[in-house]
Amino acid sequence: MAQCGVCFHRCDIPEGKRGFCGARICTDGRIVPENYGRITSLALDPIEKKPLRRFHPGSMILSAGSYGCNLRCPFCQNHEISWSEQAMHFREGAETVTPEELVRYALRCRPVGNIGLAFTYNEPLIGWEFIRDAARLAHENGLVNVLVTNGTAELPVLEALSGYIDAMNIDLKGFTDRYYKEVLGGDRQQVLAFIESAVNSCHVELTTLIVPDENDSEDEMRALSRWVGSLKNPDGDAVPLHISRFFPRFHMQDRDATAVRTVYRLTEIAREHLPYVYTGNC
Ligand code: SF4
Repeated sequence: MAQCGVCFHRCDIPEGKRGFCGARICTDGRIVPENYGRITSLALDPIEKKPLRRFHPGSMILSAGSYGCNLRCPFCQNHEISWSEQAMHFREGAETVTPEELVRYALRCRPVGNIGLAFTYNEPLIGWEFIRDAARLAHENGLVNVLVTNGTAELPVLEALSGYIDAMNIDLKGFTDRYYKEVLGGDRQQVLAFIESAVNSCHVELTTLIVPDENDSEDEMRALSRWVGSLKNPDGDAVPLHISRFFPRFHMQDRDATAVRTVYRLTEIAREHLPYVYTGNC
């Protein structure tokens, strides 16, 4: 039995068993990332799709995902690889790549505009050791590294990656503890602390998915954007915010897609505090 210190769950994991995220396992009394190098998705994406709008605009980035997640968002768009039963089949089914192989492939994609590696699709930080190893090698080869995360990790995990990650998109899924706890199975305070630290180490952009009747009030957006407005990226510039439209998915089919006018109205409110606000999925 050992305790995992990667996120607020602090799972006590018996020998041979896995933690809540399905990706970390107790072996010989130690917690190790069972999903190390296990790739479920690989695509060369425009960097705007991460989304990042103020980091190497117009470029492409080789994006890799593994399996498992430490949140339980009922509307997950990547549930096939994050936290459904199907996702856990990837323990056997996912391809294994080494950091060297991934970086070699990223370099081969350079002629078509690739600038580096993005760790994305599932929650990458539950397997942060692979990110550290691949990102270090990517830097040695002149590539950049991007992390797309839910920000649900303890600060030592962020520190372990410091210097290797050049840009992050972090979800700030809402601005109430209730929503994080009751709907997403998360911990808003951990995410806020993560974001506050991340802006000291690399370029950060944030994403908020607006879900009807959950986090779509004007007051919540006012509070969220005011808080984001108090942050600065390492170059002294403001932190961009992406406000995105929800569509019914996975276990959340009981409501319609977010009205486009709601997304635009909340964007206007965010712009009272922030210079860079972008809409998504509209
Ligand atoms: S990373 Fe996974 S195993 Fe570790 S504490 Fe979080 S949910 Fe549990």
